[in-house]
This record gives sequence, structure tokens and C-alpha cells, in this order.
Amino acid sequence: MKNCIMQIVGNRPQFIKLAPVSKEIRRRGYQEIIIHSGQHFDENMSNIFFEELGIPFPDKNLHISGGSHAEMTARMMIDLEKIVLIYKPDIVIIYGDTNTTLAAALVVKKINIPLVHIEAGPRTGNQQNPEEINRVIVDRISELLCTPDRSSYHNLMQEGLKERAFFSGDVMYDVFIQSRKRVDAHSILMDYSLEKKGYILMTWHRQENTSSREAMVHIIELLEQIDVPIVCPLHPRTKNALLKLGLWERVELISNLKLIAPVGYFEMIALTSNCRMTLTDSGGLSKESFFAGVMCLFMIDLHVWPELEDNGWLFHMKENNTVNLDFIRNVFNNDTQSNVRPDFYGKGNAAELIVNEIEKRFLMKGCC
Ligand code: UDP
Repeated sequence: MKNCIMQIVGNRPQFIKLAPVSKEIRRRGYQEIIIHSGQHFDENMSNIFFEELGIPFPDKNLHISGGSHAEMTARMMIDLEKIVLIYKPDIVIIYGDTNTTLAAALVVKKINIPLVHIEAGPRTGNQQNPEEINRVIVDRISELLCTPDRSSYHNLMQEGLKERAFFSGDVMYDVFIQSRKRVDAHSILMDYSLEKKGYILMTWHRQENTSSREAMVHIIELLEQIDVPIVCPLHPRTKNALLKLGLWERVELISNLKLIAPVGYFEMIALTSNCRMTLTDSGGLSKESFFAGVMCLFMIDLHVWPELEDNGWLFHMKENNTVNLDFIRNVFNNDTQSNVRPDFYGKGNAAELIVNEIEKRFLMKGCC
């Protein structure tokens, strides 16, 4: 019987990254087990991605979300250990930098099953950032580290992890180019009364931007001064924070801002491909902006994607909103879009290269 590959995921970007890898694993006839930690659970933060992207529904959902970092990670570890011992997979794949990723890595490593980390290697150099802590630990203990870009590969080399590092390219780019063809952008823009290249697409959800009133007000003050339409599929965490801090009414009064519920992946790709620029604190959307050839004003002081910064695709939001507004005006007044883009994130075949590498390193050697 073919080997069993387990994939452990828990939040929205991980479902998206899972799609091309899952397809490739099934195409090659491996047995695939998908475990969902439950970190994201709303219909439009979870199920919609499995349906749209044709991913098999999870074999098991742990329904674990909320609580402190320690509570969430600990509860996941307890349940994941039982599940991994029942299924006894030959390989386990994990993605990114969440508590699900950390919990899975600690459990799988101690059971002594080869662990593959997809989206390994990005470093912000800031250990106050919870995702950075998760990523560094997971990279230390995974057997195969698949990096989305060359700087991440370089980071791993510098940390003495060269033997385990592999530049695969970004599975998010795979799914982006595969999905773009399937999207009816025209009707989506009509639904929201948006004009092609006439609006900003915004997302806002990072802990750094939702846990303090000061950080939230800084963003709100910028939004109040922007004079072009902004569409923002609002993350549940941000909505809760705005309500809790008594800022919800103030945000609702911003006339150019269209707050909508989180959207599915196809809708998001249509909104990204047709906006003038993005305003976001999402590591995923900042890359997708580049895939779509649009500029990103990045609302967090973390340097995750150096290639995008160095080549002028990503600008960091400044303390002084006048500078941020100048940047936005400049993007709207000049034709900043470019169809010529270097292959920083590979060629759209990262999932295929990753499964090749898994076969070469683990399965063909008969280690499993
Ligand atoms: N996304 C989506 N619908 C939305 C907002 C985001 O499909 O309403 C997608 C987005 O295109 C990207 C991913 O979700 O692929 C990013 O997820 P998120 O911002 O939650 O996490 P991060 O990128 O910060 O890890």
C-alpha cells in the first residue's frame, strides 16, 4: 500500500496553502489524512476554502480555538498526539507559523515521524512577534524545510539548517495562478459597486494591530483621511476588538470604507487583481499583491518579504499618516502596475517540487 501522508492545518491561509499540495499528493496515489485543529471555524473562514479549492473535507476536526497561546497550543498537543498515534502516518506536513503548526511540530517530532514544514524560513528578527517564535522553533525541529523565497532559504543557511532547507517556491503562488483563471471579477466588482483599479483592498487582523487602542486608532485616523473607496473584508478578531474598545461606531462612520464579511478565496483573488493597491497587515495578501502586480502599503513593522521591499512592491506604513497619504496619492496618480515581475516565489509549481523532494528524501529511501 502507498504511504500515508498527514497534513495538519488550522487557519484560513493554511487551507489555501494546503490546496495544491493536497491535489499533488492525491494525484500520485498516496493516502492523505487531513487534520483540522479548529483554530478558524466560521463557514467563511474555513469550509468555504475546502469547497472552492476542491480539498477533501478534514478526516478529523479538533474544534480547538480561542484561549491564550499556551491554552490553545497545549489543548491541541494533547488531542493531536492521540490522533497521530491512531493514524500512524509516514510523513506529516505542516504550514506557516500558527499555534496549530507549533503544536503539531512538537507532537510529531516526539513521536519520531518525519516532519515537513512548508513556508519555512521567513524571519522578522522580532521575537515579540508570536508568529516568529513559532516559526523559529518549528524550523529547528522539522526534517524538510520548504522555503517560499530565496531569502528564507538564505536565513536557514545562516542558522546552520542548509542540509534540511529546500527552495521550493511558494504554494500560495501555485494556488493564485490556478485560481485566477476561474474567477468572474466583473460580477464581483459590480456586487460591491467598485471600479476596476479605483479602490484600495484592505485587510486588518494581526495581533499587533488589534490588541491596543493606540494601534487601532492610528489605522482609523488614516482611513478617515483616505479619499478613495476602500473595501475591507473584516476579520472576526478585528471586529471583536473594535466593538470591545468602543471604536466600531467611529469606523462605521467612515464614508469611503466598505466593511464586508470575510470572503471566499475566489472573491478575494478577484478583489486583489482589480484593486489599485492593498492596505494590509497580512503576510499572505502582501505577497498576493505582488502576484497581481499591485502595490502594498504594509501595516506592520515586520520585514517578512525582503524581495518585495527591495524591489519597491511593499512599503511600510509610517507613524506619520501624512507620509502614508502621500504614498497612496502617488499610487493612484501614477500607473504603478507592472506585468513584468521576477520569479521571487518560484514558477507556480511549488507543490510538485515539494512532493518530489519528499519522495526523494523520505519515501524512496524506504525510511518509512
Ligand atoms: N483571504 C480570503 N478572504 C478574506 C481575506 C483574506 O480568502 O476575506 C485570503 C487572502 O487572499 C490570503 C489569505 O486569506 O490568501 C491570508 O490570510 P490571513 O490574512 O488570514 O493570514 P496571514 O496572511 O496574515 O497569515
